[in-house]
Amino acid sequence: MAKIAFIGLGNMGAPMAINLVKAGHVVRAFDLSKEAIQKVAAEGATFCESAADAVQEAEILVTMLPAGRFVEGLLLTNEALFDRLKPGTLIIDASTIDAATSKKMAASAAERNFSFIDAPVSGGTAGAAAGTLSFVVGGPESDFQRALPVLKCMGKNIFHAGEHGAGQIAKACNNMLLATVMAVTAEALNLGINNGMDPNILSEIMSKSSGSNWVLDCYNPVPGVMENAPASRDYQGGFFVDLMCKDLGLAMDISHSSGSPVPMGAVAKGLFNIHQTQGKGGLDFSSIIQLFTGK
Ligand code: NAD
Repeated sequence: MAKIAFIGLGNMGAPMAINLVKAGHVVRAFDLSKEAIQKVAAEGATFCESAADAVQEAEILVTMLPAGRFVEGLLLTNEALFDRLKPGTLIIDASTIDAATSKKMAASAAERNFSFIDAPVSGGTAGAAAGTLSFVVGGPESDFQRALPVLKCMGKNIFHAGEHGAGQIAKACNNMLLATVMAVTAEALNLGINNGMDPNILSEIMSKSSGSNWVLDCYNPVPGVMENAPASRDYQGGFFVDLMCKDLGLAMDISHSSGSPVPMGAVAKGLFNIHQTQGKGGLDFSSIIQLFTGK
């Protein structure tokens, strides 16, 4: 079993770290929030007072942070963990960040005899708790193989997307697709409801017809249609609108740098940005339906 430092114990990181503990790994945990560390420490991880404290003796460092600047700050500039890690340490960055920062971290890690892989996830907080996340890894095959046993404790589908940064590119493509599918599914449901349809019946019809998609099957945005969906708990928890806006921004950056047209993604980004400016950034992203219902 490995000695693992886990930094970033938010909605996703906490359940992921707990799954590593349950699998028998020795986990030293740190977050800026003491409450978040306590939650993970209660399940058997070691409570650490600082990031530097967490990486003592670490063979593997897992980071799960909000954006690229946090990852760069932690590893290179602010806490500068790259000055503290042992040679040979494998850094698994499971955060969703820009591919450019991932590549920069990988190059800086290589200069110091560390290995760095980008390993963003999908599957949401429910997948994190159940240990069924999908990981999309960017980095050399040897580092992918080394990370695999650890990733398997937190996820079910583990993909090797390609070289450094490829995990982040794949993740941005997927989330741009998800945002557009969520927005247009919400739009279609609202259209039907405004014309007298029962949302349960309409959802059932569309999920069994050619409009079928993951949102209809697993994440219906209308309250009450799916008991376990965030829509049925006032859009609390789940995947924040703020994070979806960040991911859409990452997709737009990739589109600009590669000259790839993304008109549908750009519309989705506009819709989620309007929703965000209406004070909905802290709600689950399925709350985009409120933009159509006006509630
Ligand atoms: P979150 O905001 O709940 O958690 C982030 C945590 O990082 C916070 O607890 C914060 O205190 C901590 N943090 C920030 N800077 C730190 C530092 N320097 N040292 C220690 N801790 C620090 O976010 P989340 O929902 O857990 O998402 C984390 C990442 O996973 C994001 O990149 C997000 O895009 C991605 N993601 C989220 C979901 C989801 O459904 N929430 C799904 C897939 C991917």
